[in-house]
Amino acid sequence: MTRVERLFQELKFGGLEGAFLTSKANIFYYTNYYTDPHERLVALYIDATGNRLLILPSMEKEDAKQAGWNGDLLTYKDTENPWKMLESYLDHKPSSIGIEKEQLPVSRYEQLTQIFNQTEFKDTTELFNHIRMVKDAEEYKRLKEAAELADYGVKVGVEAISEGKTELEILASIEYALKRQGVREMSFSTMVLSGHKTASPHGAPGMKKIKKGDLVLFDLGVVLNGYCSDITRTVAYQHVDKQQKEIYETVLAAQKNAIDQVKEGIEIGTIDQVARDQIKANGYGEYFTHRIGHGIGIDVHEYPSLTSHNPLKIRKGMSFTIEPGIYVPGIGGVRIEDEIFVTENGVELLTTYPKEMQIV
Ligand code: MN
Ligand code: MN
Repeated sequence: MTRVERLFQELKFGGLEGAFLTSKANIFYYTNYYTDPHERLVALYIDATGNRLLILPSMEKEDAKQAGWNGDLLTYKDTENPWKMLESYLDHKPSSIGIEKEQLPVSRYEQLTQIFNQTEFKDTTELFNHIRMVKDAEEYKRLKEAAELADYGVKVGVEAISEGKTELEILASIEYALKRQGVREMSFSTMVLSGHKTASPHGAPGMKKIKKGDLVLFDLGVVLNGYCSDITRTVAYQHVDKQQKEIYETVLAAQKNAIDQVKEGIEIGTIDQVARDQIKANGYGEYFTHRIGHGIGIDVHEYPSLTSHNPLKIRKGMSFTIEPGIYVPGIGGVRIEDEIFVTENGVELLTTYPKEMQIV
C-alpha cells in the first residue's frame, strides 16, 4: 500500500471522506516532492471518489514528476486562480475532510470553505503526526546520513575554536565545511554560543570573542534528502572551573541515564522524568527549563514530544532527541543532545560525536 492509500484508510477509519494537506513535510511524505513554494499554494487533495490530486504552480510540474509523483496534477499559472480551478475540477464534494489547522492560513481556509460549503472540516494534525512518527527503513537511512553530517559539523566547530575568534566566525567555518559536503540547508539556525551566553537555551550567536575559560556550545543539524539532524555538544576552552565541571557531569549523567530508559513499550514521559529527577537531586532542578527532547524526521521538531507527562508508549522505528541542559544565568550553560533511533534491541545512537568533557 502506498502512503497515500494508507492515509486514506486512516481517514476513513476516522469517519472522514478526504483530506487537504498543506504542510511542506506532509506534501513531501506523501508525494516525495520537496518544495518550498513561498506564498504560492501547494496542496494535496484526496477523497473517497479516488482523487489523488497534487495542486502546484505550473513551473514546478516537471520537478514534481521527476520526484516520483505519478498521481493527478492540477497546475496553475500566476495569472490563474487555483481555487477556482479546483472547484471546477471536482464533480463531487466530500461531506467531511481533514485539514492541518496549524499549516493553513485563515485566507486559505476561507477559500476552502467557499468551495466546500457543505463540508465539515476537521483538524487531523494529530492523525498526520502519528502516522509519521514511526519511520521505515529508508527514513532510517536518511536520518543516519543526516546525523553523520551533524557529527562532522561539531567536529569542524570544535577544531575551529581559538582565542579571539567570534561565535559567528566559528559558525561560518561549520557551515562552509558542510556545504562542501553537499549540504544545502541547515535544519535550523546554527548555534555557537560562548561564555555567559551559553546560559540561554535559545541564545543568538554574535560577535562575542572566545576567551580562556569559556564554555562553547554548538547546536546544529542539516537537512539531507528531506530529513533533518540535530546535535548539541558543549566544550570548554582551555580551562574549566569547578562549577562548570559539576554542571557538565550532571548533564552528562542525566543524558546517559535517560538514554538507558529507552525501550519499546515504556511510557515516553519516563525519559524526561528520570533525567529531571536526577538533575533536581543534584541541586540544578530549576535550571533545566525545557522538555528533554523531540521527535525528528522531515521536520526537525515532530512527534513524539518528550515531555514528562506524555503517556504515549515508545515504539520501534521512532526517532527522537535526548537533550537535557542546565542553564545558570550569569554563569553559563551546558546541553548535550543526541539523536536516537528505537530498534528491536533497544536504541541506536545516530549522533556519535564524543561527549565526555573536553577541554580544547
Ligand atoms: Mn533538538
Ligand atoms: Mn538541537
